[in-house]
Amino acid sequence: MNFNQIRLFLFLIFAFSSFSCSHELEPKYRIVFLQCCHDEWRDVMNSEMKRELAFHPEFKLEIIESYSETEQQIEQVRAIAKEDIDLLIITPNEAKPLTAAIEEIYKSGVPVIFVDRKTDSGQYTAFIGADNYEIGKTTGKFISSQFRDRGNIIELELEMTSSPATERHRGFKDAVADAPNLKIVESVEIKDGLTDINNYLPRILKEHPETNIVFAHTDFLAVTAYEVAQKVEKAKSLFFVGIDALPVSKGMQQVKERILDASLLYPTGGAEAIQTAVKILKKQPFKKENKLLTNVITAENVDIMLSQIEKIKEQQVDIERQVYRINDLNKTYSSQRNRLYFMSALFIGVVVLGTFLFFLLQEKQQSNIVLAQQNDAINRQKDEIEKVSEVARQATEDKMRFYSYISHEFKTPLSLILTPTEDLIERKAYNVNESKQVLELIKKNANRLLKLVDQVLDLRKIDAGKIELNADFYDLVSFSKEIVDDFKFKAKNANIDLQFICPFKELPYEFDAEKLDKVLFNILSNAFKYTPNGGFIHVSLMKNINNVEIKISDNGVGMSEIDRENAFEMFYRANKNVSLGTGLGLALSREFVHLHKGEISVESKKDSGTSFIISLPLLLNDSRNQVADAPVFDHEIETEKVEKSELRPLESDISLVIIEDNAELLEFLNAKFSKLYNVYLAESAEEGWDKILNFVPDLIISDVMLPKQDGFELTQKVKQDFRTSHIPVILLTAKGKIESQIEGTKAGADAYMGKPFNQLLLEEKVKNLIENRDRMRRRFSNEITNPGNVQSSERKFLLDFELLIEKYLNDSTLSVEKLSAELGMSRVQLYRKITAITNHNVNDYIAEYKIKKAKSLLADASKNISEIAYELGFNNPSYFTTFFKQKTNKTPSEWRNT
Ligand code: ATP
Ligand code: MG
Repeated sequence: MNFNQIRLFLFLIFAFSSFSCSHELEPKYRIVFLQCCHDEWRDVMNSEMKRELAFHPEFKLEIIESYSETEQQIEQVRAIAKEDIDLLIITPNEAKPLTAAIEEIYKSGVPVIFVDRKTDSGQYTAFIGADNYEIGKTTGKFISSQFRDRGNIIELELEMTSSPATERHRGFKDAVADAPNLKIVESVEIKDGLTDINNYLPRILKEHPETNIVFAHTDFLAVTAYEVAQKVEKAKSLFFVGIDALPVSKGMQQVKERILDASLLYPTGGAEAIQTAVKILKKQPFKKENKLLTNVITAENVDIMLSQIEKIKEQQVDIERQVYRINDLNKTYSSQRNRLYFMSALFIGVVVLGTFLFFLLQEKQQSNIVLAQQNDAINRQKDEIEKVSEVARQATEDKMRFYSYISHEFKTPLSLILTPTEDLIERKAYNVNESKQVLELIKKNANRLLKLVDQVLDLRKIDAGKIELNADFYDLVSFSKEIVDDFKFKAKNANIDLQFICPFKELPYEFDAEKLDKVLFNILSNAFKYTPNGGFIHVSLMKNINNVEIKISDNGVGMSEIDRENAFEMFYRANKNVSLGTGLGLALSREFVHLHKGEISVESKKDSGTSFIISLPLLLNDSRNQVADAPVFDHEIETEKVEKSELRPLESDISLVIIEDNAELLEFLNAKFSKLYNVYLAESAEEGWDKILNFVPDLIISDVMLPKQDGFELTQKVKQDFRTSHIPVILLTAKGKIESQIEGTKAGADAYMGKPFNQLLLEEKVKNLIENRDRMRRRFSNEITNPGNVQSSERKFLLDFELLIEKYLNDSTLSVEKLSAELGMSRVQLYRKITAITNHNVNDYIAEYKIKKAKSLLADASKNISEIAYELGFNNPSYFTTFFKQKTNKTPSEWRNT
């Protein structure tokens, strides 16, 4: 839902609620009453109107008085005409001057009701008023009936400019005329109440002593007349009649008090005016002319009248209370109704909104589903693209790796062909044996290259899916036996027990001879590579119900779990010895076996041997009597047994110092060895000695023929100095004479190589020497600080070293620097020497010594642990405890208690 939609929704709710609020109980009609003047009678009229209005809350009345000012009233009419009113009630102050203004309002469509008085115009909606003529006449009739048609009357008239005065007078005169013995002694117009009456009444009474009745046009005049008459002591003999009979002040009260003998009720018409207005505005039938009836109030009925009025007043209060209550209830009702409206509006709004949201949600879900589907499709495409590009990337990577491996694999045999070839070319004198040896090396490496090329071609074919089975029926037994037999010579040389075990003479089987030959040859070659002299290699051929199983087992070096898992991977070689193979053989073998729908697997355990099992499926119709002669393949078997050795990884930190005055040969050797070791080069014995002292290498290769100092002298020096005496030395000589070898051995050389040396042989020698040293180190690294086990030449050094440690045992400042200084060595020399002999660094060595010492001290129960700690040079016994626990997993006291 967007912002505009929310706005629309809120607007609807507010519109609805404000609509419901407009149902409040508010006056619907505005009525204006223009009252001419102010007196008690008009007050009564006003309050009658208000009372009547209480029944009609939808009408609102405004009363405006003009205090008998005609001009003011005209202005009020004009002002009202401009306003928005529904009805005008008016008592005109004067008839004529107001006619025009009122007519105008009437013509504009506003209903006009005259109360009590009219204008001269007939243009009005209704008139309510007492009939003054009738009142006058009724008074006359009442008096004549009271006095049996005889009596003398003084009439006190209102100003004769107003219509009530003339009408009353006319009615009264007419009634009196009907009674011949009833006379109006005098009619006087009273303009100024008390003053006029004072002026006229005593005089008339004096002039007409027969007077027995006073009729005044109002109760006020009548009461005033009574008071004046009282002064002249005539009041008692006179009969006072007034008009109005107001329930307040001068009126009924005076009748009750017998001041007035009667009063004619002059109704105000207030209630009737409102009733008529209601009818008009509610469009109900109404009377235009409404004459109000009069009544004579005398001492006989005044009490009833008053009590009725009292009753009415009480009821009025009651009514007002009810109205008030009704209003209250109305308010509650209307507020509750409004609340209900609002709640309904809210409810409807919520329902509308809910529905709207529901549809919106559905729409969204729908589009979400579509989106999700699109997303899925895109993701699938993306995955596919990724897969394809991953495959492409993998393929490129594989290819790159393949090229770099392959070129590396080519380099080794190539350089081993080139080096000796060049060597041969450069040689002046030919020694038949030597040249044969070199040519053998060249031939061997050429064959390696050939094999490598062959393997690469096979791989290419496999990779391109172009390799095919070129199968025929051959005798599998004789085929396998022949391959095994090719290794007989090699086995004999290496004193290996090679056996071919097969329970049957012949097993016709359909296979690709060339490929199976490669498989078996590779596995057998492997077995020979990794089986030491004196071991066994057994090949067995078995036939089961479903398959033929060829198993090649050896008791050679075996494989670790990782090697086993990766054996069939391309280029995988458990040891990185370049001379032992490229790591392609098994990968190819597996492919070839798979081509035969067979399986190849390996079982192997480190140091105890390896078995390869080739399982080929046997089909029922496989057996055939006719078998072809299996083709015979040339097997280039390397007879020179390569030392199997523990070969170290390239990242090894083994270092060599090579001393050779022939710069090219030095570079050649550097090129060979720096692939495997850290090589330091020197062109003279002096330079060599410096490097030896400086780097304390793991092995030294030195030419014998060197300028100034020769190789023998250098060897002697190395072997006599306890800092270097542990380092093996290989001497190279072109002499090739037995004397040289003797001399070299005398000087303490560890190995001897005639020039031109076989690079492979030299490499193997280097490896062997390092291995031997490693083996020696391993042998006694567990029995450290036991120099008895160490080679005799190094024993003395270690004994000296331990004496020194013993001397400083309780010295907490004992350090390698201190020890090496005492021994006359540099820190590095001592470090390397100890590591070379014991495979431990100096600090470990010292620590081990201290542990050994601590154990013997702990055996002596007379010493406490703190004493022992200080004796061993620990400043703090708790540090000793930590140290001891670290090394032995037990605290000193635990050790002592076991
Ligand atoms: P290539 O056969 O290509 O000349 P290779 O012999 O090193 O080289 P594979 O025949 O594939 O390669 O053998 C892979 C690796 O498996 C070998 O390098 C070797 O580490 C290990 N291996 C194979 N046969 C044996 C075995 N009989 N005993 C111990 N390790 C073996
Ligand atoms: Mg192999």
